[in-house]
Amino acid sequence: MLAIPLAQPDISDAEVDAVVKVLRSGTLSIGPEVEVFERKMAAATCRRYGIAVSSGTAALHLCMLAAGVGPGDDVVTSPFSFVASTNCILMAGANPVFADIDEASYNLCPDAVAAAITPATKAVVAIDVFGNTAHMPAVEALCEERGLVMIEDACEALGTKMAGWPAGNFGTASVFGFYPNKQITTGEGGMIVTDDGAFADTCRALRNQGRGGMGWLAHDRLGYNYRLPEIAAAMGNVQLERLPELLGRRREVAGMYLERLAGRPELILPSVPDGVELSWFVFVARLAEAVCHRRDQLILDLRAAGVGSANYFPPIHLQPYMVERFGYRPGDFPVTERVSAGTFALPFHGRMTQRQVATVCDVLEGLLDGMRARAAA
Ligand SMILES: *Cc1c(COP(=O)(O)O)cnc(C)c1O
Repeated sequence: MLAIPLAQPDISDAEVDAVVKVLRSGTLSIGPEVEVFERKMAAATCRRYGIAVSSGTAALHLCMLAAGVGPGDDVVTSPFSFVASTNCILMAGANPVFADIDEASYNLCPDAVAAAITPATKAVVAIDVFGNTAHMPAVEALCEERGLVMIEDACEALGTKMAGWPAGNFGTASVFGFYPNKQITTGEGGMIVTDDGAFADTCRALRNQGRGGMGWLAHDRLGYNYRLPEIAAAMGNVQLERLPELLGRRREVAGMYLERLAGRPELILPSVPDGVELSWFVFVARLAEAVCHRRDQLILDLRAAGVGSANYFPPIHLQPYMVERFGYRPGDFPVTERVSAGTFALPFHGRMTQRQVATVCDVLEGLLDGMRARAAA
């Protein structure tokens, strides 16, 4: 057990009370909490419709199906992400096509997306990596110009605003996930938001066993059980009400790290791009080129000292199942690989104390000093 974990949910008595109330109500699925949660999430992202589902991955899967993505289609996406943003393309039977990232934002590089588009391209899945919405307007404009469906994977970005526009407002539809390390959690859960009524109807039918509203045992098409339980939605409603508080605390913790670690020559610290009001999802730093070969050892050393750390994200195209199926090799997406080789996440959540941040930084700085001494020897 790590003394300081990578992430931790922030649950107050209000979430506990809301869940108990649902348990006593007798309505555990398809009830009022889900409807309220959908309306609140649509409002928070300036969208017309919200469709609650059982996970962020389920949300991505349904978006692929509602977009009409299937066998024979190419979908352009980023190799620097959590695997779900690529897996949804495979789940729909389509072919993921990677475009490399921008070295500053870690998001898809719009020029690389443009270069990856072929006549077989049907959609683009663009990810707000670590909460950053940079390049979403450019990718959205490109998709409109080329007649492609754009799905925004906003799972890491709830609360981010860019020129006044919230994450979750780019493309045909956007998705969120509520796993316990996200800005808000429902235990497990997800949400699709969109302005397209037909798209919303399709997602609603697909999450509920393909029911089209003609009766409980009338199934228009093959569907899934991707429904969100009422207990989860009740948690989500309270968490969403607390969002400003939750994001404020996370911003404070990020500020503590930035202040303490500024000026370390071995580190490239996360930065907030101009015009973006960042919702902090993780605190991921990057080792400078000269020491980045020490990254894996650094993560092991941090963990040995009781400090949670992880290599966010290994390149998706080099995951064993992707190599086996598509034959990718090191060097295929050089920016992703360069960034990925140096990045590591530090413990980060809104309940971290100043003392915990100081402990993490003491351990990290000790290890960085050791690295420098070894390099000089
Ligand atoms: C968390 C996350 C998801 C969804 O994850 P679930 O665990 O299925 O809710 C999807 N994409 C990205 C980029 C994520 O970070």
